[in-house]
Order: sequence, then structure tokens, then C-alpha cells
Amino acid sequence: MEPHNLVIIGSGPAALTAAIYGARANLSPLVITGKDLGGAVGQTDRVENYPGFPEGIGGFELAQSMQKQAERFGAEITMDEVAEVDLATSPFKVGAHGSEHEARSVIIATGRSPRRLGIPGESEFAGRGVSTCATCDGYFYRDQRVVVVGGGDTAVKEAVFLTKFASEVHVVHRRDRLRTERIVEDIAKSNEKIHFVCDTTVTEIMGDGGVNGVRLKNVKTGEGSTLETQGVFIFVGNVPNSELFKGQLELDEAGYIVTDERQMTSVEGVFAAGDVQERVAWQISTAVGSGARAAMQAEEYIAELEGRAHPERDA
Ligand code: NAP
Repeated sequence: MEPHNLVIIGSGPAALTAAIYGARANLSPLVITGKDLGGAVGQTDRVENYPGFPEGIGGFELAQSMQKQAERFGAEITMDEVAEVDLATSPFKVGAHGSEHEARSVIIATGRSPRRLGIPGESEFAGRGVSTCATCDGYFYRDQRVVVVGGGDTAVKEAVFLTKFASEVHVVHRRDRLRTERIVEDIAKSNEKIHFVCDTTVTEIMGDGGVNGVRLKNVKTGEGSTLETQGVFIFVGNVPNSELFKGQLELDEAGYIVTDERQMTSVEGVFAAGDVQERVAWQISTAVGSGARAAMQAEEYIAELEGRAHPERDA
């Protein structure tokens, strides 16, 4: 079978933008989505800061629109998870659970996954009271008290979202200052259902069958306490999904894929876009920009392989 011109791994804004650009450049890209369609945006309730949507837009709706747009131009989108890659020689090999592919160029847009706290009860009660997705699980906590862990944009925005269902939302943050956009902080602080528990860490998630409380520790006084709750939402940042590429591509000390100004990784013909290579601003708008750039550079790379002069570069 002929290798694909372009295989894109991921399905968030970077991957889908690369698919739109790749399809319009006649590269007939194959997109292998991974298990969470739409990436992190697909699990976001409202997106308020992406240009072009003055009233905001649902995260999943935005991801679906990008997917439709990519398909309209001929991108093939397959729901599968990539299990292994071989980037040592071209054509590159991409093995998903349900299929094997060869590719002349690859764009990696695998994003990031929620960081874990690593405390007792976190794994044990995952899916039984411990969640990293308010959009998916918030509904189950109608009229109940929930705890949100973290003090960044995600924690505070999701805390506000959870007030649609929960009777009380306690945001437990390890410092006394939030790491959020000012507007997000102001909205949360004016919400009567939200209570901030600062300078505090969660040391254990307790339960019996399901979650029934958390153990807390004030980091300044060392004082311990407990708080009854049925739901714990953990939003303490993210780690890049680059495990699959370790030893094959250059990664930085935090695990982000190293790219140059063309989105090229340490291997010619393999590009990375979006959060998996982003070290400064993890936004939809930045992911879209790097996805577009990666696809345009993949087009140029394929043109070079075929010995074709690229019109823009040679103009
Ligand atoms: P983040 O900005 O990295 O914040 C992570 C939060 O978790 C921080 O408050 C951090 O505390 C805390 N934390 C980290 N490790 C912890 C641990 N082991 N125990 C307790 N707390 C811990 O992550 P994020 O909120 O997911 O945001 C990621 C990026 O996406 C950011 O650039 C953000 O601006 C962006 N984002 C933007 C929007 C938007 O609407 N504009 C929405 C969501 C996300 P410290 O503050 O003490 O470090």
C-alpha cells in the first residue's frame, strides 16, 4: 500500500487545523483521533476567548465544527488510538490499535493530559467521585458539595461551571494567590456558592465505595482538617502526551516535544503542533496557529521530497 502523504495524530484544535490546511493542500491527510475527540477543548463547557464568537461557544461544538470543516476538504478522520510509532526511517510507521499506517510526513498534536496529585484515594476513587472533567461529571453532583483542587484558569473556570449543579464548591489551592485571568477570578469571587480554601493542600481522598471526604493540610500552619464531600475535581495543570515519542524525538526536561520555527521536530518530516510542544501559552488560538504552520511546512516538505518547486517559497 502507498504511504499516506500526511498522518496527523490527535483531534484537538491543532490537529484539526492541520487537517484543514493539509486537505486544502491536497495531501489527503489521515487524522487518528485518540480516545478524547476534540482534545481538551472537547471537554470544555464554554470557550469565551476564541476570536469570532462574541457570545462564546461550547467547546465540543467548536471541535465538531473544526472536524466538519476538515472533512469537507477531504481529510479522513478515524477514531483510533496510536499505540506505537517508528520514526527512525521514512516512510514513518504509525501503529494504531485497529490499523497500521505508513506516512511520508507526520504531525503530532497529542496535547496534554491532566496532572495527578499522587495522593491516597486519587486512583482508587477515579470515576467514583474523583474527576478531571466537570463537563462530563458535574451533573452527578446536583445539590451536593464538591471540592475543586487547583488555582489556575481551569480550576477556577470549572468551579464556576460546577455551581450550575452543586450547592457549594470549595476551591482548595496551595497558595494564597490564584493563577488566573483577572476576569475569571472576579467572576468566581462574586459567586456565593464558591468558597476559596487557600494555602491548603489535599493530602487524602477518603471514601467507602465512593468519595465521602478529603483530608486537608494548611501549608502555613501545618494544621490538618477534613471536609465532607462526594465529589473531588482535580485541575492542577497538565503534562504533555509525549511518552510515545521518547527516545525517538528530542523532548525538553518537562517532556514537551522540541520544535523549530517551522514546527519541525528533531526528525525531518515529523512536525509537532499544539500543547504537546507549546511552552508558553496553552490556548486554542496558539494551537490553531501552530497546526496551520505545521501543515504548511509538511506540504513544503512533501514538495521537496517530490522535487517540486514550492510556489510560495520560490516566488
Ligand atoms: P496551570 O495554569 O498550570 O495551573 C495549575 C494550578 O494547579 C496552579 O494553581 C498550581 O498551583 C496548581 N498545582 C499544580 N500542581 C499542584 C499540586 N501538586 N498540588 C496542588 N496544586 C497544584 O493549569 P491550568 O489551569 O490547567 O491552565 C493551563 C493553561 O491553559 C494556562 O495557560 C491557562 O491560562 C490556560 N487556560 C486558559 C483558559 C481561559 O479561559 N483563558 C481556561 C483554561 C486554561 P500554583 O498556582 O501554586 O502553581
